[in-house]
Amino acid sequence: MQQQLEQQQQRRQHQLPAAAAGEGGPAGAEPPPKPKQQFKFCRMCGGALELVLPDGNWRHVCTQCQYVDYQNPRMVVGTIVQHEGRILLCRRGIEPQRGLWTVPAGYLECGESSAAGAARETLEEAGAQVHIDAPYVMFDIPQISQIYLLFRARLAPPFTFAAREPESLEAALFRPEDIPWDSLAFSSVSIALKHYVQDLERGSFSVHQGVIQKQPGSGPNEPGSFQLVDHVQLDTPAPAPSR
Ligand SMILES: [Zn+2]
Repeated sequence: MQQQLEQQQQRRQHQLPAAAAGEGGPAGAEPPPKPKQQFKFCRMCGGALELVLPDGNWRHVCTQCQYVDYQNPRMVVGTIVQHEGRILLCRRGIEPQRGLWTVPAGYLECGESSAAGAARETLEEAGAQVHIDAPYVMFDIPQISQIYLLFRARLAPPFTFAAREPESLEAALFRPEDIPWDSLAFSSVSIALKHYVQDLERGSFSVHQGVIQKQPGSGPNEPGSFQLVDHVQLDTPAPAPSR
């Protein structure tokens, strides 16, 4: 019974108000260009989906049961792992950007905390057990509908790591001055590591939040095709002196 009620409620949340369905968005506002339809079939009833513009955003709506299949940004979680002054990077074994270096990171799973997801991805891609210290960067990338949340972390016992196929071809620790800047896979990783090295040199870590603007149609890490805007840098308190 409870489950039925929850299902009904979930269904109602995914239906458009009758008055809004099929209308063309707020009066006076320029409607966004119609995107390419990503999905064809309704996950509730198997009916055909169509793109409609009920509320200023294009939505996939079922032509049979009116279920609205909302598409929302995805969260990528990962770690910047430090061990004895060096940083753990992995060489990607899968597309996109196969063969280039990145920090361990991947999509957060449902039912998982962001820190647990970051630790899981680090084990899956670099074979490393880690202790998560603190959030480090949160970058929105609106052009690709992703949010990157990377944590500062340290290797935990047994302090070992190894590339895990097929995700990674290689895992290695890099001194800051040896980071392969020209062979990094993603703009988010380039920007995060740049700040990380700056913070290391300064001797104090901040938390960095901002928006990565990418030139439309540019690759995942094309030099000059992206920039961090609305950068907020929160200084974290220095560790308390031990007594
Ligand atoms: Zn349907």
